[in-house]
Amino acid sequence: METLHAALQPVYADVLRRNQGETEFHQAVFEVLSCLSPVVEKRPEYVDASIIERICEPERQIIFRVPWVDDSGEVQINRGFRVEFNSALGPYKGGLRFHPSVYLGIVKFLGFEQIFKNALTGMPIGGGKGGSDFDPKGRSDGEVMRFCQSFMTELYRHIGEYTDVPAGDIGVGGREIGYLFGQYKRITNRYEAGVLTGKGITWGGSHARTEATGYGTVFFVNEMLAARGDSFDGKRVVVSGSGNVAIYATEKVHQLGGTVVAASDSSGYVVDEAGVDVGLLREIKEVRRGRISEYADIKGSAVSFVSGGSIWDVPCSVALPCATENELPVDAAKALVGNGVQVVAEGANMPTTPDAVDLLTEAGVLFAPGKAANAGGVATSALEMQQNASRDSWTFEHTEQRLAEIMAGIHERCVMTAEEYGVPGDYVAGANISGFTQVADAMLALGV
Ligand code: GLU
Repeated sequence: METLHAALQPVYADVLRRNQGETEFHQAVFEVLSCLSPVVEKRPEYVDASIIERICEPERQIIFRVPWVDDSGEVQINRGFRVEFNSALGPYKGGLRFHPSVYLGIVKFLGFEQIFKNALTGMPIGGGKGGSDFDPKGRSDGEVMRFCQSFMTELYRHIGEYTDVPAGDIGVGGREIGYLFGQYKRITNRYEAGVLTGKGITWGGSHARTEATGYGTVFFVNEMLAARGDSFDGKRVVVSGSGNVAIYATEKVHQLGGTVVAASDSSGYVVDEAGVDVGLLREIKEVRRGRISEYADIKGSAVSFVSGGSIWDVPCSVALPCATENELPVDAAKALVGNGVQVVAEGANMPTTPDAVDLLTEAGVLFAPGKAANAGGVATSALEMQQNASRDSWTFEHTEQRLAEIMAGIHERCVMTAEEYGVPGDYVAGANISGFTQVADAMLALGV
């Protein structure tokens, strides 16, 4: 509390009181508020209009029952969520997460992050997030389909291309978006392509959306390096995770001349000094939906598999946490610094714990927060909405080019804002202040 500006302490106390036990949400709010001292000083009108209190309270929170029948004929019950956090800049926009850890506090943390991330993209999208405690792991295709249909049977009444536009997140990829979109279309009798993003190319999707979060993270780091006369060429990189973000971050690092030497999942990590084989990783995780240890089984003695353990023990000069929240704690940060890491950029949402961020930045490591570095996914979702609205379909090259420009724009915005507010070189403050002021200005203009 003591690091918060006096004007922000009662705001944070209210957040704690209203959202008891939602520790991830508290963490995300504290991280943003702790950067806002210079904003409170420079823009007292935000305090006068209670903008910060209003931003911390979701506009709408929906919780619903999701009943479905499993393959053995048993009825299963899950809980569904959609938190429509802020619509000052556009329709609520943000993914759906299907994972057993999902509860209201996780959805709120993700939705809160999404407000500022989406603002940073410069696209007209508000912030929201949703999901369920459903665990797709080990479920058949039919079970996933029936779950998605039941989930959409409630969700459809809350979303729409001008209202709220969900997409994927952990546990929700092209397959799930297909089943969700199919059910939306069936219920509403509308081919409303702009109601969901992350769709398949043949049914309203955008090229480069699948790749966008991972590619975007690497484009962002490339901008950070270029600003210092450096590049990925010859760099040793560690990317945690093996989902959609990690796979395409790895692919782009390799295209830019770096080498990604490790990959992980919740069971452990593999080290492949020759460079992680993206095709094999994709085959194991996306097609077979298997474990990372299979990578080592197939590659043989050149690759080691470490069961459990921390991937951050693997020496590297660029570390990209692309798995999940709080996956890079302070001990991992110490190990990275000890091994000479130069850059840490978050491909996942809030993967680095607050004490780890402090340790890294105090050690002089360049640190890019997720709301800037992983904004390429949602930015390309906005490009998908743009193509849907104009009934158009762009080429992969054009879409990737737009993504690269957007990431360069976000980098520029972070750098300029950090300078303007007296914290040069601080990407965390730059991202938070830039995202916040854009939303706050729109809220002021729109009235209470
Ligand atoms: N789930 C992604 C994120 O964390 C993408 C959301 C979207 O495309 O709407 O930003």
